[in-house]
Amino acid sequence: MPKYGFLGLGIMGTGMAANLVRAGFEVTVWNRSPEKTAPLVALGARVAAIPKEVVEASEITFAILSDPAAAEAVCFGAGGVLEGLRAGKGYVDMSTVDAGTSRRISAAVAAKGGRFVEAPVSGTRKPAEDGTLIILAAGDRPLFDEARPAFDKMGKKTMYLGETGNGARMKLIVNMIMGGMMTLLCEGLALGEKAGLEQEEILEVIEAGALANPMFKGKGGAILAQNYATSFPLKHMQKDLRLAVLLGDELGQPLHAAAAANETFKQARGLGLGEEDLCAVYKAVKG
Ligand code: NAP
Repeated sequence: MPKYGFLGLGIMGTGMAANLVRAGFEVTVWNRSPEKTAPLVALGARVAAIPKEVVEASEITFAILSDPAAAEAVCFGAGGVLEGLRAGKGYVDMSTVDAGTSRRISAAVAAKGGRFVEAPVSGTRKPAEDGTLIILAAGDRPLFDEARPAFDKMGKKTMYLGETGNGARMKLIVNMIMGGMMTLLCEGLALGEKAGLEQEEILEVIEAGALANPMFKGKGGAILAQNYATSFPLKHMQKDLRLAVLLGDELGQPLHAAAAANETFKQARGLGLGEEDLCAVYKAVKG
């Protein structure tokens, strides 16, 4: 059995690392806030004090961290991933970041003789717990193949998308679409209420036709129940929209709708809703 490392035990990392431990792999974990390692220890994981020690103890180290700043801090910081790397070791960053961040990490890992794969994921808390994520990998192909047994325990579908940056971009594009859809669903529900319509009936009409999708059903129901328990933190959705709009700038692609959705999510963060689920954007839309 290969020895794996896991950095970042937030909403996603906790479920993903747990699936690796349950599958029988030897897993060493680390999290910035150490109390979050407790559930993994209970399952049989080892704990390290700093990321460097995780990398030293592991053949392949996985990470899933908040954003580009967190991904870079854990890689480049004191006691970070780079300090533990040596020839042949693998680093798989599953955080949602921009392609530039991913490429900087990839180059630094290669400079230490290590190998790098980016592998952001589609799916949320429940798929992370159930091992049914969609994994969007790119980078070092032999490392991708070696990491496949772990990907298969964390996800139901894994795609290899070629050179580093392609996984990051695929993830941002998919989430940009999700953020736009979420914003319009909220605007429709808010407008419907002001128009004197039943919001349940708006969802019923959507569900009956070509617009039906699991996100509208799940998040629409949550909004009506005023259940904003965090599955996907709103602040991360805004980060993804921001990074997608930046990608549009970089490539000269107009993104009117995504830019508008980004403003809505920014407003929601300004209202203090960042730690709530992304569907709490409804509260900002409704005013
Ligand atoms: P989360 O619950 O907020 O967890 C974030 C993790 O990053 C925590 O382990 C946190 O440590 C760590 N972290 C943040 N800043 C750090 C820093 N400066 N140094 C070291 N560690 C740091 O987020 P999540 O929902 O698991 O999401 C993680 C990533 O997956 C994000 O890129 C997100 O966009 C992406 N994603 C999330 C979902 C979802 O539905 N939740 C779905 C797909 C992709 P602490 O515990 O110490 O704060």
